[in-house]
Parts: sequence; structure tokens; C-alpha cells
Amino acid sequence: MDDDVYIKLAKHLDRLPGGFPATESGVEIRILKRLFMPWEAETALALAMKPEPVSAIAQRLGADESELGQLLETMSKKGLILRSAKSGQNFYMAAQFVVGIWEYHVNDLDEGLIRDFNEYSPFLMKTWVKQKTKQMRIVPVSASISAEMSVTPYEEAEKIIRQQSRIVVAPCICRKEQEMIGKGCGKLEEACLIFGGGAYFYEENGLGRPISQEEALDILNKGMEAGLVVQPGNAQKPLNICLCCGCCCQILKNLNAFDSPAKAVCSNYYAVVNEDNCTACGLCQERCQMNAVTVDETAHVNLERCIGCGLCVPTCDFDAMHIAEKEPSERYVPPANLTETYKRIVQERMQMK
Ligand code: SF4
Ligand code: SF4
Ligand code: SF4
Repeated sequence: MDDDVYIKLAKHLDRLPGGFPATESGVEIRILKRLFMPWEAETALALAMKPEPVSAIAQRLGADESELGQLLETMSKKGLILRSAKSGQNFYMAAQFVVGIWEYHVNDLDEGLIRDFNEYSPFLMKTWVKQKTKQMRIVPVSASISAEMSVTPYEEAEKIIRQQSRIVVAPCICRKEQEMIGKGCGKLEEACLIFGGGAYFYEENGLGRPISQEEALDILNKGMEAGLVVQPGNAQKPLNICLCCGCCCQILKNLNAFDSPAKAVCSNYYAVVNEDNCTACGLCQERCQMNAVTVDETAHVNLERCIGCGLCVPTCDFDAMHIAEKEPSERYVPPANLTETYKRIVQERMQMK
């Protein structure tokens, strides 16, 4: 009987853009049981991905407004649903599992949850790979962008940061959970930059700390020095930027297992070797998170694997590596905003069924 509500919640979450596919092992139900009490699962089932005041949700459920208000507030503080505020009134809405509920548990992890999540993440990635529109995209690090390139402002992380009035930095859950199970890489832990309404939610829930644009730019630079891939949310006005490593990041780690990671990302660039300058030192091969570079007499880039992150460019001391823009017919234009991104993902997933 108890499992019924979790099975319904799993199906509910699977209808949201991030998806929550069923598995034979039922690991997704185990995850929900770890996170939601049965009455919380029941309440989450009643929420859609649009902000609503308590009164509207209470009316739909025939519930006492005051009791429901307390429950929704507690659930939002636990990172099970989303909360926003307007003119002093709180609004609540469903949170998808990834990017969402999982990330909101960055300060609330235990080994059991981490084990289950790592068993489940390859299934989540199967959904991710099939849909054309992803939740994240990849932009080149600034040091790889040359003056001749026509990079649009939404493809430059610095310009995205300069547009923000509110920025929160949060610990990277991928590196944190790997650290907790003894597999951490030791790279930058405070590496998730959250903007806008998301920044307020993160700050109020104690998930991160507010920072200035200058500190965010400094973190971006540290990320580049540490060889982290820059992944903004997949919109022209993204609400976050992630700085990711190929070893811990659940997206890059799973992409790395594919033959053609380049086909499974939204990116407009690829790396090119100038063989005349290349000394075959191999530094770019070490730096590449996608194992896209091989070196014999010179370096070679496997375009099936290159995700256009640009990290190999500043690594090369011999001016032998640069990034190039894809042909206009292949260029990816992100949706204008996240609402549009989610709409596209839902439509694509419905067409796949
Ligand atoms: S997606 Fe990247 S920055 Fe975000 S939590 Fe994972 S590794 Fe960290
Ligand atoms: S870092 Fe530069 S010189 Fe060294 S192998 Fe790569 S492209 Fe060649
Ligand atoms: S070769 Fe590797 S490091 Fe260079 S842009 Fe491609 S994926 Fe990034």
C-alpha cells in the first residue's frame, strides 16, 4: 500500500521535463522513499510546475489552508518542492528530480542515497540523451575565445554573470557526493552559480551563499584553471552555471561512456589542431575531460567526442590548439528562457513515447 503513493509520484515526476524513468530494479522508488514521507509524496502529487498560492492548492485538495501551508513550507525547506514569493505571498510548485530535488539535497546526503543515485543516474541520462533539447549546454572557456570569433553574449559565461543582479554560489553536489564515498577529485567544491529566483531559493534554504559578480567571475576563473567544463542552463537567459569535471559530474561522466558525446550535447564549437605548431607534448590530452584527444606525432581531436569546452586551448603553450565554430546550418540556438526550454523538452519527450 505504502509503495502506491511512491509509484504515483515517480510517474508524476517522469511527466516533468527532467524525467524520472522507471527501472526494473525499482531504484527510483527507493530514492523517493528516502526523500519523501508518504504524506509528503501525496502532497507533491497535487502540484504542477507552475507557482500557485496555498489557497488554490488547498481548494483543489479540499484541505485546510493553514495546515497545508505549513506542510508546503516544510517540504520546500526540505527541497522536495519549490517555493517563490511575490508581494509578500508564498507560491509553491512541483520540483523536477534533476535538475531540482537532487541538487536541493546537497547538504543532506548520506551513503545510501548516494549509492542509489549513482545506480540510477545512467537511466536518467538515457532520457537526457534521447531528447534534442538538454537542460544544460556547453560554452567555451573565455581563454579559448579569439577576437575574430562571433560568439554571442549567451555563449560567454562572463557576460552571463555580468547580467545578474543576484548570484548565489553552492557546493557542487556531484563532487561532494563522490568525496563522501571516497572517490572525490578534490577540485573546486563551491562551483554552482545560481541566478535570479533560484538564487533566493538557494539562499533561504541555506544551500549556498550570496556573492558579488566579481567573486562569481573569480570562481569562473578558478574553474578554468582547474580544468572544469562550463555548463550554463540551456537558455539564452540561464538561471545557473555549473563548473564540471569529467570524473564526478553525473552528466559528463555518463557522456564519457558514449562513443559520440558530441552528439549528445548542445554546443557550437569544436577543437582544431595546428599540426605545424604541435610538439606532441600531450598536455591537451590530459586536460580533455571527454578523452577526445589522442597524440602520436601530433595531437588529433576526435570530433565525435569533442564537446567544444575549449579547455585544451589555454593548456597548449605552442599555439597549436584553437576552437572553431560549427557551420551556420549546425549551430544550436538555445531557447530564450528556461520556461521555453522546459516546454520544448516536454514536447520532445511526448513525441518519443
Ligand atoms: S553538474 Fe557540474 S557543477 Fe553541477 S553539481 Fe554536477 S559536477 Fe557539480
Ligand atoms: S598541448 Fe599543444 S603542443 Fe601539446 S600535444 Fe596538445 S596541441 Fe600539441
Ligand atoms: S578536445 Fe577536449 S578539451 Fe578540447 S574542446 Fe574538445 S572536449 Fe574540450
